[in-house]
Amino acid sequence: MNTTPRAFPVKIRQLEALESRLSPAHKEFSAIKTEVKRSRAGWRGEISMDYFYSQLDLPRQHYFVHQLRLPRNMGFFQMDTLLLTKYFFLILEIKNLAGTLTFDHEHQQLLRTQGDQQEVFADPVLQAQQQAASLKAWLHAHYSSSPPIYTYAVMTNENSVLRNAAPHPLHRQIIRPPALRQILQDFFAKERCHSLNAEVNTYVVALKKAHRPAIFSAMEKYELSRVDLKNGVFCPVCACIMEWRHGKWVCSRCGHVSRDAHRKALEDYALLVSPHITSGECQTYLHLPVINTAQRLLQKMNLTHSGGTKARKYHLEALIKAM
Ligand SMILES: [Zn+2]
Repeated sequence: MNTTPRAFPVKIRQLEALESRLSPAHKEFSAIKTEVKRSRAGWRGEISMDYFYSQLDLPRQHYFVHQLRLPRNMGFFQMDTLLLTKYFFLILEIKNLAGTLTFDHEHQQLLRTQGDQQEVFADPVLQAQQQAASLKAWLHAHYSSSPPIYTYAVMTNENSVLRNAAPHPLHRQIIRPPALRQILQDFFAKERCHSLNAEVNTYVVALKKAHRPAIFSAMEKYELSRVDLKNGVFCPVCACIMEWRHGKWVCSRCGHVSRDAHRKALEDYALLVSPHITSGECQTYLHLPVINTAQRLLQKMNLTHSGGTKARKYHLEALIKAM
């Protein structure tokens, strides 16, 4: 399978860091908790598709691109998964929603019922079709011809029940992952006569070059500032604040001992506060009794730094890229 390797989304890492550093009493806490849960489920859904992709019979020239985000007019459009083959392109909108899902294409909506709760989502088929229209326009602007583009909404959650509010042709474009195999075989049989003039690879290179990753700030989204965040190093076992004692982090609640628990705390700092930190800021943030300890811990992490000894800034970007 030819594919771009996936990286765990920084957006989810930001949200998780925020959930751990915000007081549960904060007015935005439950909204953030819900977004963490929803984003994690979405990510699990996309990862779960890899098994089904690996089971497909695909020609040598094919490529999967995930989370592609391209400029269009004044804004951007994003596709969960785009499969490029020599004969056609396929856009998949992946949804990992639990509960009873009622597709109401007539009113361009998806209703989710879980217990006595009901939620409304955008119709995923229309979302995918909009992406296809945008991709077609993008391709027309860059190439003399483009292949047919097909779209499907894939419902990955095995515990969901799919329903149709009323018979509608769009319902055919909602599938479960195992259906993908036959669908692709039919497309290959149907489209074999017209193939691309250029190699699939040239499209992949151009699309990846045009990709503009979304810049997300959980702090901005929830209108939070530095003072809303808890300082300190959290115990990886019980999430209590740890203390620095004789060269080690010690949890006074569960007794856990760690030499590098500050790493996660600094990663949170990089995700939420700033890509760099001074020894003084680090001392306050990690609750260290003396600045020399902060300096020593930062130096030991082999981070790049800038500025003179007094105002030295340690760069934390590497901690975000490390995952
Ligand atoms: Zn603990």
